[in-house]
Amino acid sequence: MNENVNENVNDCDVIVVGGGPAGSCAAIVAARAGLSVVLLERGPFPGSKNMYGGVVYPRILDELIPNWWEEAPIQRWVTRRSTMLLTDTQALTVDFRTEAWGKAPYNGATAYRPDFDHWLASHAEAAGAQLLTSTTVTGLLRDDKGVVVGVTTDRPDGDLRARVVIACDGVNSFLAKQAGLYTHTDVKHFTLGVKETLALPKEVIDERFGVRGREGVDIEIIGCTGGVNGGGFVYTNLDTVAVGVVLKIAKLAGQALRPEQIIATLKAHPAIAPLIEGGEVKEYSAHVIPEAGLAMMPKMISDGMLVAGDAAALCLAAGIWLEGVNFAMASGMYAGEAAVEAVRAGDVSAQGLRGYQRRLSDTFVLQDHRKLRRAPELVLSDRVQHLYPQMVANVVERMFRIDNPQPKPGLRRILKQERKRAGIRRRDLIRDGLTGFRSYG
Ligand SMILES: Cc1cc2nc3c(=O)[nH]c(=O)nc-3n(C[C@H](O)[C@H](O)[C@H](O)COP(=O)(O)OP(=O)(O)OC[C@H]3O[C@@H](n4cnc5c(N)ncnc54)[C@H](O)[C@@H]3O)c2cc1C
Repeated sequence: MNENVNENVNDCDVIVVGGGPAGSCAAIVAARAGLSVVLLERGPFPGSKNMYGGVVYPRILDELIPNWWEEAPIQRWVTRRSTMLLTDTQALTVDFRTEAWGKAPYNGATAYRPDFDHWLASHAEAAGAQLLTSTTVTGLLRDDKGVVVGVTTDRPDGDLRARVVIACDGVNSFLAKQAGLYTHTDVKHFTLGVKETLALPKEVIDERFGVRGREGVDIEIIGCTGGVNGGGFVYTNLDTVAVGVVLKIAKLAGQALRPEQIIATLKAHPAIAPLIEGGEVKEYSAHVIPEAGLAMMPKMISDGMLVAGDAAALCLAAGIWLEGVNFAMASGMYAGEAAVEAVRAGDVSAQGLRGYQRRLSDTFVLQDHRKLRRAPELVLSDRVQHLYPQMVANVVERMFRIDNPQPKPGLRRILKQERKRAGIRRRDLIRDGLTGFRSYG
């Protein structure tokens, strides 16, 4: 990591803005192809400004960093994945565990972002990219035809020029907006994620979560955010547990509860409290999430510029899945490849950079978003948030309640009664079911 500008960086092939997963992967690919690359990060080191819930799915790294699991700074391998539905007093959990995910090539891992992002950026440096930290990009440089030809920074030595700029500056990308690539932004497209990291001895975490060694747990929760639409999560690290909520900003602004109160209520829930009891808060962090997927994505290519990761709203927030890091790494890699192609061909116009769009469209990055395009709105809808959890929990409670001398009631009757009690119209239930089936089916 370097704070001194190498003399040649004032004119390089590729400038990557943002040392998160998208930026580092773009820089690795472009530098390995022999291009001169500068990676700019406003924080004192990559990962210092980055925040998330806690689980990375690094399968996409298999080619970029073979056997990444032997060196990546992970906390635990996720071998248990639970989806929890909460009401004020009830909890219904679908709990899956497999030994397979605890062995190479692994599936997902908990990791601290300062460690993980730092590690990824070190691969960019090893490939030859120059990493400049504590450097904030303040704007775009354009030529007289409007083509992006570099960036302005807050460094005393000022502007940096390049053939291609890759904007990986995260949610609310100031660069994508300045390039005119976002045609609209709407507060309804964003959620606020807040998280507490609680310290507990490793043995206590192992015992409470039923895991051993490096095995870890990922719990996604719905019905835990009171009147604010959103969701929650609990993830295990080696000797800390992350507990957090994701909250629809428009709803949060319209009511009195603060995010830390909503986390406190989640922590006090009878299904969660025994897992984290005695945990000492080590860190409190918050960050905005681009939640609306396809509905909010900007154009990602302009003359001389590409946009990747959260900057392009590529985070997938679809209820049982909250995946942003893998989408960021993949889009960063594809942006790097497209930049290499364009620089070699001597055409960095939007036309010359179109290989980026093709790569996104041909892979999970846009295919998952297209398939799940209705999911973010469905998951954050009032019915899914406030009515279905209660209805489903009541149905299950009645199925398992033994009311002798009454005989067991049939499931259809319970379902009908509980649907009516929750105030859900039959046609809405069918419509939501179909939307869910089309998205997740
Ligand atoms: C609460 C929460 C929970 C989440 N949980 C998960 C999860 O469990 N798993 C998962 O996969 N994803 C999760 N995500 C999403 C994930 O964090 C993001 O999708 C991912 O970080 C996107 O990576 P990125 O590289 O595009 O952007 P970022 O990680 O945001 O990186 C952007 C980088 O750009 C730098 N930067 C910004 N502006 C400038 C500038 N002007 N000049 C220089 N540098 C700049 C920033 O400092 C930062 O380092 C979660 C997000 C939140 C908020």
